[in-house]
This record gives sequence, structure tokens and C-alpha cells, in this order.
Amino acid sequence: QASERESMYLVSEYANKYFQRTLWESEAGKAIGLTYFKERGFTDETIKRFGLGYSLDQWEAFTKEALKDGYQLEFLEKTGLTIVKGDRKFDRFKGRVMFPIRSMSGRVLGFGGRILTNDKKAAKYLNSPESDIYHKSKVLYGIYHAKQSIAKEDNCYLVEGYTDVIQFSQRGVENVVASSGTALTPEQIRLINRLTKNITVLFDGDAAGLRASLRGIDLILEQGMNVKVCTFPEGEDPDSFAKKTPLEELVRYLQEQSKDFIQFKASLLMREAKGDPIKRASVIGDIVNSIAKIPNRIQREVYIQECSRIMDISEEVLFNTLAQISNKEL
Ligand code: ATP
Ligand code: MN
Ligand code: MN
Ligand code: MN
Repeated sequence: QASERESMYLVSEYANKYFQRTLWESEAGKAIGLTYFKERGFTDETIKRFGLGYSLDQWEAFTKEALKDGYQLEFLEKTGLTIVKGDRKFDRFKGRVMFPIRSMSGRVLGFGGRILTNDKKAAKYLNSPESDIYHKSKVLYGIYHAKQSIAKEDNCYLVEGYTDVIQFSQRGVENVVASSGTALTPEQIRLINRLTKNITVLFDGDAAGLRASLRGIDLILEQGMNVKVCTFPEGEDPDSFAKKTPLEELVRYLQEQSKDFIQFKASLLMREAKGDPIKRASVIGDIVNSIAKIPNRIQREVYIQECSRIMDISEEVLFNTLAQISNKEL
């Protein structure tokens, strides 16, 4: 088992080198892949730092090369790099720019591959399948490059996508990781928890991003961590926003717009509830529900006080609501 996984790591590292070589050296890689990354504003240094690559738009270019270099089909298939159908073999990734996904210690576990067109019918990103070395729910994109900065800054920015991580990092904000399309999981939060107790959630300025951040907040609170939320203007994500914003302004935006989760939830939900007392009550219930997830009692009390101030409700009412929720869960 252990040696099987070892073989899978070796194949993955080989593929990583292969996709990079293809990007920098092949005609198609240079003309299509490199051009694409340049258009997104990534420098050579950034492309190399994150090991970005390109997969040729051919049926089995990678698989052939890997077999020729002595890698076994068994492990090509187990990592999902090769799809085997009867006696035919196909490359999983074809004509895509490639993002290697690394573990905390830097091992390549799998890949994300993006199509270059904006064809709405095709899936924009294709990822490696779950395998013995790649568990989507347990990895965070960018953690290997971000870990030192997260510890140093004592804060971790959490974004949705690969390119958000890369753009931020290139701009000098290096303490950033992505959940990469999956809903945030407790295991992913635990990875961050080893480095810092503070997370700032930066989700896309769209409805999906907002829903994802609300769900993520409770999971983070449950682990006794502090959570802030920073949103972006409608239609922007951290990548597009960072790309067009000077660094000083970006840093200022992150500082000024990062709101404590109570403020965030309160202002967001209260805006929806407007003057409706029934909706208002349900918003209060929602927020107290989040506070109930916090394991530390003193911290819960601090948040109740804050909630009382922001929402103009007596602490007593809020404590009673909290007690009701806690009783229900016992
Ligand atoms: P880009 O800027 O390259 O268009 P993005 O990162 O802004 O991409 P989003 O649509 O915001 O893309 O999605 C966030 C993340 O979700 C992506 O980075 C990717 O990891 C994942 N994702 C998006 N679309 C898909 C898909 N069709 N299949 C699998 N994962 C996806
Ligand atoms: Mn999005
Ligand atoms: Mn996005
Ligand atoms: Mn984007």
C-alpha cells in the first residue's frame, strides 16, 4: 500500500514536470498556454513558482511519453492521468492549462486543468479524480506556498479558485489558499488551524460566493477559530479585483472591508429582512445559531454582547435564545 502510494507520487511529479516542459518548450504550449497565462497577467516567475503547465490537445501524448520513460500504466490509471478503456488509453487532460495541487509538504497530489475558451457548455475546470493520494476534501490549493506567510501574518485568506491564489500571491499577499470549488470541509479548516487561528474568507462577488461563505463560517467557528469576511464588488472575484488594483489600495481594501462575522451576517441578513419583524427574528436566530457553534464560553459571551449592540436587542433576549439552541442540541 505504502509503496503503491509512493509510485503514485512519482508518476504525479513526473506529470508535473512533463506539463511544465510542454508549456515552456512545445510550440502549442508556448503559443496557447503561455499566451493564456500572460493574458491573465501572470509573470514568468509566478508561472514557475506555482509550476503551471500545459497539456497538449492530443489523445495520448502524455501517456505515451510516460510509458516510454518507464512509468507503469497501473499508476497512470490510479492517479487518473490516463483513462483506460479496454485496450485503448487516453490522456485525461487535453488542451488545458495545468495547475498542480500540492500537499502541505509540497508533494504533487493531483491537477486542475482549465480549458482556454469561454465555452459555456464545457466544464471550465477538470480535476484529478479522488485517489489514494488525492482527497479533495483534505487539500487546500496553495497551502505549500502560503504556509510560512500564514504563520508570519497570523492570518489566512481563504478564496475560491486557483487563479485567486496565484494573483494574490503575485501581488505580494502570500497568505492565501483556495478550497477549489468544493464546499469548505472541517479537514481543510484543520490544516489552517495548525498555522493560525484567524481566517478571512474572501469569496466571489456573486450569489454562489455568498452562500459558500455563509456555510463556511459556522464550520470555522466550530473549530474555535476567528473568522472575518471580506466581499468584493458584484461580478469581481479576488483575482480580477487584485489584478486591477494597486497593491497599497488592495491592502487597504482588505483591511477596511474585512468584517467580523457578526457584522457581516447582521448587515447582510438585516438588509434582506428590512423592517419585517418576523424576518428580523429569524435573522437573529440565525446569528445566535452561529454563536452557539463557538466552543469557548467567554468568546460566546463577547459575541452576544457585540450582537446586542449591532442589532439593538437586549443581551438577555439573546442569551435566552442561545440557551434554547444549546438545550435543543444536548
Ligand atoms: P477563472 O478565473 O479561471 O475563470 P475561477 O477560479 O474564478 O476561474 P470560479 O467559477 O469562480 O472560477 O470557480 C472557483 C473554483 O471552483 C475554480 O477555481 C475551480 O477550482 C472550481 N471550479 C469551477 N468550475 C468548475 C468545474 N466545472 N468543475 C470543477 N471545478 C470547478
Ligand atoms: Mn465564482
Ligand atoms: Mn472566481
Ligand atoms: Mn476568476
